[in-house]
Amino acid sequence: MLLAVAVVGSRGSTFFEQLPSPATVERIPVETPQPESKEVNSAPQVSANKLLTHIQKLNFQRYTTTERSLTRTYITTELRKFGWKPKLEKFSEGVNIFAERVGTSIASGAILVAAHYDTVALSPGADDNASGVAVVLEVARLLGSRTTPRTLQLAFFDQEEAGLLGSQAFVSKAPRLQNLHGAIVMDMVGYACYTAGCQKYPAGLPLTPPSDKGDFLAVIGDTEHLPLLNAFQSSQILPSTVPNKHKSNLPPVLTLPIPFKGLLTPDTLRSDHAPFWYQGVGAVLVTDTANLRTPHYHKPSDVPATIERSFFTGAAQIVVNATTTLLEKNEILETQPPN
Ligand SMILES: [Zn+2]
Repeated sequence: MLLAVAVVGSRGSTFFEQLPSPATVERIPVETPQPESKEVNSAPQVSANKLLTHIQKLNFQRYTTTERSLTRTYITTELRKFGWKPKLEKFSEGVNIFAERVGTSIASGAILVAAHYDTVALSPGADDNASGVAVVLEVARLLGSRTTPRTLQLAFFDQEEAGLLGSQAFVSKAPRLQNLHGAIVMDMVGYACYTAGCQKYPAGLPLTPPSDKGDFLAVIGDTEHLPLLNAFQSSQILPSTVPNKHKSNLPPVLTLPIPFKGLLTPDTLRSDHAPFWYQGVGAVLVTDTANLRTPHYHKPSDVPATIERSFFTGAAQIVVNATTTLLEKNEILETQPPN
């Protein structure tokens, strides 16, 4: 996650300031019987141990050329174990990793799941962004051999912290975007706090904070592609086969629809989803809200021990649920203009 973006008019403010649209929080009580949903009910279950192992294996600064190369070796080795054929895609300042599992209906397009793998200097980046990388790898394991109408694409971006360079290089390839129907970008999905007042909100926030605790997962999308956000609103429905004791582990989801591609809210543009918005491709950012919540942001203390296991695992399950839903549906993901 970037600290700030170089956008004309940015006042260096933080994340949710001056959101002009209503945001909603969806809390689904554990006891409430859930509507049967074929797509969501068939979503596979994440493994907490596998997720946390990825974060342990990536417990080093990923800043220099050598460190980022080592990181790519880990990611591509894991992808090959799951049957994927990752490709390294060089650009002037770095190297992205891309992989694809083709769907049964080419016309249905593709869904991309992505996270950046680099860190700032002097931080091992457990939350920022080994947590996001771990979730993409878990999506790769769980959905790699699944047959779905839509194509599943994975990307691991380099040089996000240097100014979204990897994602900008990715979207500069026009043919790649033609069949892309939505991007799910994760940046910092592993930190939660449960003491009163631990979650910060900028003054003048036009939403009712769900609580004064940092226990929710934020999903930020553009208003031109609301069905992408809707997939996350219904993502807390767990498979009926999952025992009740696990259901309470899913964090509440705070969805934030952002109009005008974030023009009025430059602080909603601080990660790799923003280049997709600029190209007219629907994209969501899934995040724990970064420096509004964690005291370890961009610090040497962003270590695996500070990852909140239950929140992180729940966040990963929400992403797997929403991704599964989107891969199995054929609906158009653009927001339809009113008749
Ligand atoms: Zn960052």
